[in-house]
Amino acid sequence: MIEILSASELTRARAAGALVANILHTLKSRCTIGTNLLDIDAWAKDMILEAGAVSCYVDYAPSFGRGPFGHYICTGVNDAVLHGLPRDYALADGDLLTLDLAVSLEGIAADSAISFIVGDTKPAESVAMIEATERALRAGIAAARPGARIGDLSYAIGTVLSEAGYPVNTEFGGHGIGSTMHQEPHVANMGRPGRGYKLRPGLLLALEPWVMADTAQLVTDPDGWTLRSVTGSRTAHSEHTIAITQDGAEILTLPTLGS
Ligand code: MG
Ligand code: MG
Repeated sequence: MIEILSASELTRARAAGALVANILHTLKSRCTIGTNLLDIDAWAKDMILEAGAVSCYVDYAPSFGRGPFGHYICTGVNDAVLHGLPRDYALADGDLLTLDLAVSLEGIAADSAISFIVGDTKPAESVAMIEATERALRAGIAAARPGARIGDLSYAIGTVLSEAGYPVNTEFGGHGIGSTMHQEPHVANMGRPGRGYKLRPGLLLALEPWVMADTAQLVTDPDGWTLRSVTGSRTAHSEHTIAITQDGAEILTLPTLGS
């Protein structure tokens, strides 16, 4: 089922999006050399509960994971790109960290992910990889407007990732979002323009380009959740929740806190 949100639901979606973005913004500012992934999870829990929001992850038990997830945020380090289960690990200088967070506020969910480098060492390949996913995300958002089709967004995203030299995995990608975190339509990170569902005002989408440096193949950790690059190469992931409006697309997961 594809949900089209009412004006009042869109108002709640904006609040949910700002909350997700502000939590990610705060967590990023706290992540330094030595920060433990379990502390990040605990901080996320505190901020979610303090806001009166509901975690989309704690009870999440999809067919592809060893559910329920049991944590409040996904934390992927270096070769871990999707569904990173928080574990007892202290961040090191130069680690590439991906944080992915989804919460529901007054019944509407928002979902966003950021990748960034911890500490003072900024490996050029990691910087380039993060920037490619951010560029692909901007291209997908720019293609999103009423009348455009899902394939147009997939094509825009996939073109940027491919031109940057990254293999593209189409198993996991973006998705509709609304009263639940994962809904139709699926938004693959590569596709053909002019194909698929036609966008309408009120549709909420989470767009999420992600890449691995030298492969499109994932491998699942023994934890049953964390997905890594099969080669052990580095990975990056950028995600926003957007609303289709009459004029184009509104990004809902931008932080409203100052730096
Ligand atoms: Mg996400
Ligand atoms: Mg998502």
